[in-house]
Amino acid sequence: MTLRPHFVLLALGLCSAPSFAQQTVVDCGKLLDVKAGVWRDKMSVVIENKQIKSIVPSQSLTGEQRVDLSGYHCLPGLIDMHVHLSDETKPQVEQFRSTLTLDSADIAFRSIKYAERTLMAGFTSVRDLGASDGLNISLKRAIENGDVQGPRMFTAGKSIATTGGHADPSNGYNRKLRNALGKPGPEDGVVNGVESAREAIRSRYQEGADLIKITATAGVLSQASSGDNTQFSDEELQAIVSTAKDYGFRVAAHAHGNEGIKRALRAGIDSIEHGTYMDDEAIALFKQKGAWYVPTISAGRFVADKAKIDNYYSPLVQPKAAAIGPRIQSTFARAIKAGVKIAFGTDAGVFPHGDNAKEFGYMVEAGMTPLAAIRSATLSAAELLNQSQRLGSLEAGFAADMIAVKVDPLKDVKALESVAFVMKDGRVVKSQHK
Ligand SMILES: [Zn+2]
Repeated sequence: MTLRPHFVLLALGLCSAPSFAQQTVVDCGKLLDVKAGVWRDKMSVVIENKQIKSIVPSQSLTGEQRVDLSGYHCLPGLIDMHVHLSDETKPQVEQFRSTLTLDSADIAFRSIKYAERTLMAGFTSVRDLGASDGLNISLKRAIENGDVQGPRMFTAGKSIATTGGHADPSNGYNRKLRNALGKPGPEDGVVNGVESAREAIRSRYQEGADLIKITATAGVLSQASSGDNTQFSDEELQAIVSTAKDYGFRVAAHAHGNEGIKRALRAGIDSIEHGTYMDDEAIALFKQKGAWYVPTISAGRFVADKAKIDNYYSPLVQPKAAAIGPRIQSTFARAIKAGVKIAFGTDAGVFPHGDNAKEFGYMVEAGMTPLAAIRSATLSAAELLNQSQRLGSLEAGFAADMIAVKVDPLKDVKALESVAFVMKDGRVVKSQHK
């Protein structure tokens, strides 16, 4: 068929005017040129077909339908490179009860409000680094179809772990339950050896993931004794990275322990998540390989606080949270001093969704400038997503993802915790400005 659909609709009398040409104009008091690192005064963003068509001085336009943000600071929509939209922190007893009683559909419906909260906090894109049963892939689809309001998602599907490792879904069950459920395999994100590692990547491709997430070391919240031991062999890591490349996937590696961080970096992964115990040699490897560090200071601080409350975490998890949580911020301080590339990521879900922007304050507290922190959540995040031509900046041809805040975040980065206006794909989804 080569019929032009708009012509056909007109001929059938089904539409009278071409709706695709509708323009929205947003007048910004100040607009952040994130690349130059400066505010541009009184600029208007002209939006058409979900995209930024042009950015022009406000006085040069008259008449159009306008959104008045003349008293506000406009920035590109923020990007969080590490979230888990399908879950949120709760005390261990509740967590165990949920695991045993909830169906995937219950968890999916619950995640709708997490997605909404994230978007309302100004995060117009996220990277979801792991969920069971393909929930993050389905949520992404629901958001794209307009069934659920949420950020643009890039998902890893199910994280890839080794048996007993961080993100093995059978961890914490007794023998009887493990036997009843059967041993999880590559399809469920559990691999042992090179062949099953390759199979897991191919399963992610089949189910529609956008990227790969592996758990290169142990983690805090899994029901296992270590929080940082090394969990993949060099051969497995190389098989993962080379197979991922075949499918056009980038690879994110959760890693707290130093040896696991270095192995993952040597194998050529794209980003290290958390990075808690990295030493100077690991920092040098980051730079040599051009790998990204996604710090998740928010998660570290949150679990350290909760570890002080009796029975919030299980007896296995509590000491790990107390030891690892408080260290991430100082690791981040060393990494930025050394010039490691940083992409903004929080691990939201480990703490309540919607609090993502607190990370900016933690980054600045550790020595980063507000501008560098904002760039990590815009330009740098877009680069790590391989979306530099479309996301992370307010420019003609880019997706119309924009936020506005009252106070200048370059002077007080905490202003980003009070976002008054959010636009995603040219649609206003939050407008609390006056
Ligand atoms: Zn995570």
